[in-house]
Amino acid sequence: MIKDPSEFRFEAHRMADRIADYFEEITRYPVKSRVKPGEVLSLLPELPPESPEPISGIMADFERVIMPGITHWQHPNFHAYFPANSSYASVLAEWLTAALGQQAMIWETSPAATELEERVMQWMKQMFGLPEHWTGVLQDTASASTLAALLTAREKASGFSINEEGFAANSKLRIYASSETHSSIEKAARIAGFGRKNLVKIPVDEVFALDTAALEEAILRDKAAGYTPCCVVATIGTTGSAAVDPVRKTGEICSKYNIWLHIDAAFAGTALVLPEMRHFADGLELADSYVFNPHKWMFTNFDASAYFVRDPEMLIRTFEILPEYLKTRTRGKVNDYRDWGVALGRRFRALKLWFVIRNYGTEGIRTTVRKHLDLACWLSDQIQRSADFELLAPVNFSLVCFRYKPGHITDKETLNQINQQLLTRVNESGNLYLSHTMLNGSFCLRMVTAQTYLEKHHLEKAWHVVLETSKTMSDERNMG
Ligand SMILES: *Cc1c(COP(=O)(O)O)cnc(C)c1O
Repeated sequence: MIKDPSEFRFEAHRMADRIADYFEEITRYPVKSRVKPGEVLSLLPELPPESPEPISGIMADFERVIMPGITHWQHPNFHAYFPANSSYASVLAEWLTAALGQQAMIWETSPAATELEERVMQWMKQMFGLPEHWTGVLQDTASASTLAALLTAREKASGFSINEEGFAANSKLRIYASSETHSSIEKAARIAGFGRKNLVKIPVDEVFALDTAALEEAILRDKAAGYTPCCVVATIGTTGSAAVDPVRKTGEICSKYNIWLHIDAAFAGTALVLPEMRHFADGLELADSYVFNPHKWMFTNFDASAYFVRDPEMLIRTFEILPEYLKTRTRGKVNDYRDWGVALGRRFRALKLWFVIRNYGTEGIRTTVRKHLDLACWLSDQIQRSADFELLAPVNFSLVCFRYKPGHITDKETLNQINQQLLTRVNESGNLYLSHTMLNGSFCLRMVTAQTYLEKHHLEKAWHVVLETSKTMSDERNMG
């Protein structure tokens, strides 16, 4: 076992080299891991080691057992899901975070973590043009941020009685979100005790955005039936197609009926660093809470979710709990962030954000985000120019939704099948990694152009692979 700083120094230098090698060689790996289910497990001994093992031996097994089972999220041709970007600055900071091993639960347990968090949250308000009067806190994930929003909305709507009495007397609270909303909304509705049935899914329009007329109708219908509309969750950048719900119109409806408005901008929120993208967030000041994930598109490795609220008192009243052993003399004068969310123990997440924001500079973040948006435009041009491909949704951000549609094939099921096949083959090639969704019953390929290290030539190669694979499939069909 490593026993002293000098041994640690030796291993740490080697580790630094290994990590730098990884970044240098990352494009040599297949993007999507090729292991079969159970393969990694079968290479791991069933019993834990009894005696100490040297780091060199552990690293040898890391190369042999672990690396083949890694899907390379930091590969420039990772175009699947949404990115979980890292960056050099973020990795360095994460290393320091582990060394310091902070518990940022209350101010006293880490004054620097608490105050740095306060500052970077203020910085991000400015960087992203968020309303001045908001207050921010870091959560682990958007799921946890949205859960905090629903719990606070629940307490507000019930006069803080559900925390005390439980749900029994208030079983008719309702949540509203579009049919394209992220699954974390339903999860939060379940965990917060609303019940899945009280999450009302509102239809979307032709560009997959919330139909606000249908929202208002649903609210009125529910009120007439004795329900209390409690919270609306609107999305800027849905997970399926990066659609944008009309924030202002939704906010006006929420104000009219005194309903909490939570905005989920987990992925697309980073785009607001560009003034020319802020029209998507018009009406943001009407929101009660807002979440976006620097751990997706802002070059900060998982986890770091930025949660902003209009009224921190509401949030604190929802979560505050004060056992004797956590009473301090600074209470009330400082932020004790354990009262701002679900967890007591909290990681020092602000450190990596501080590194990233300073090392990139706001300008550097803007430049990279703009490049990603330009690459999405380039890809969507290629698709529109190609007779055998079509876009399936507007390209609002760095996500392109498309499918292969050879002219002579019109049957929906057949198209779904060949696109599923195309996806499998492209991913098996190891050259790139795409994911899919269903839009209006059509199997849709999703290609994200927002990986930290993505350059034009990577995307050209990826598009080339998609084209070539589709041609091979077409040749096979003709022969068959
Ligand atoms: C990714 C995503 C989430 C979930 O984010 P986590 O941080 O993994 O919980 C929620 N909403 C949207 C719109 C997302 O894209």
